[in-house]
Amino acid sequence: MGSIVCKFGGTSVADAAQIRKIQSILRADPRRRYVVVSAPGKRSKDDKKVTDLLYLCHELASAGLPISEAFHLIRERFLGIAKELGVRADLERRIQEVEQGIQGKASRDWVASRGEYLSAVLVAEYLQARFVDTEKLIKIREDGRVDESTYGLLGGALQGEGMFVVPGFYGSTLDGRVKTFSRGGSDITGAIVARAAGSEVYENWTDVSGFLMTDPRIVKDPRPMRRVTYREIRELAYMGANVFHEEAIFPVYAARIPINIRNTNAPADPGTLIVNERSLEDGVVVGIAGKQGFSIIFIEKMLMNKEVGFGRRLFSILEAHGISFEHAPSGIDTMSVIVADSELKDKSHILLEEMQKELSPDSVEILPGYALIATVGEGMSHHPGIAGRLFGALGQAGVNVRIIDQGSSEINIIVGVESKDYEKAVNAIYQAFCGK
Ligand code: ASP
Repeated sequence: MGSIVCKFGGTSVADAAQIRKIQSILRADPRRRYVVVSAPGKRSKDDKKVTDLLYLCHELASAGLPISEAFHLIRERFLGIAKELGVRADLERRIQEVEQGIQGKASRDWVASRGEYLSAVLVAEYLQARFVDTEKLIKIREDGRVDESTYGLLGGALQGEGMFVVPGFYGSTLDGRVKTFSRGGSDITGAIVARAAGSEVYENWTDVSGFLMTDPRIVKDPRPMRRVTYREIRELAYMGANVFHEEAIFPVYAARIPINIRNTNAPADPGTLIVNERSLEDGVVVGIAGKQGFSIIFIEKMLMNKEVGFGRRLFSILEAHGISFEHAPSGIDTMSVIVADSELKDKSHILLEEMQKELSPDSVEILPGYALIATVGEGMSHHPGIAGRLFGALGQAGVNVRIIDQGSSEINIIVGVESKDYEKAVNAIYQAFCGK
């Protein structure tokens, strides 16, 4: 029998009632033998995440201030859940050790990791499963990437019958110091466990029934995505659609293990399946994502196309100021570079000056106030008429398209529009491709 990894996010372990739901989800399928948990998250909008409280305690301790008030909330949180579930698991002693660690100036990563550690101890005891600490099993390089040795180490520890509970979010450096992934990193742990255990599916249980085709703050009740490919999800995540940590794709992508995003509060919903390939019956376009806050550097120079090294000199100026750019669609005598305002900061003036000096253009300007919208779907390049439909819809909605970039991936058409047209444009594209 194959196995399934189930990762439960912060809201799924937020209180005793949620952890009871986990138990019934696990009971519903005997293949669900590997459980990865986050630290308890928010129970309501104004609640605090345990991880945030731990970071706060670390900050207080570093400043030589008392942590007792903030730590009290953490202690009460865990002990309250344990009491309601009837779990003992010498939790009090372990909580005490965490408090002493923080007071003893333990590292920031160690402190942050204790939320997942205590959560996994508690859940393992409740489920009568084996607790497997990842501290010595998941090896994280200094640049944040997972070291290959992890798969052998973790795979070895996950051998045998029964159920295993693994804390998310952390491992250790090659020289043995506890290190966390970036925020939301328990998703990465889930993917690593799925690959190490050779599971057939990686189920990622959260508080939504999968991905929606676009942002529900812009389009009313968008349809859920049933199937989406790893490549499509990368493109959408890059453009700001996030439910799932984007780095969590890589471990399972290499092993072609599908990821199923599911809802702990609605376990009968099928959720979204992230796969290597999908049939185009679900639609050529899978999702629409967008971001605001871009500027366009627009340069014009007659006979630019004959001037060898023009692009290099332009990009060197950006590089010298540590500015990364998003896209650079160009014409015969024009070049435009799209840069996020967060990159540009207050450097517009100096950039203009240097570009005048180095490139002697006929004109150069930096125009703020743009939004980028990505329409993503595999097979777009093999389907005639997609671009026609996209631009037709935008034209009909009266949206002026300022930038078009199909990129080299051919699964993504990006349009740049003025910020004032952003919501109108997303709605028009959604209706054209995904509307009922
Ligand atoms: N607890 C960590 C965070 O809040 C990691 C996670 O939940 O994935 O970022």
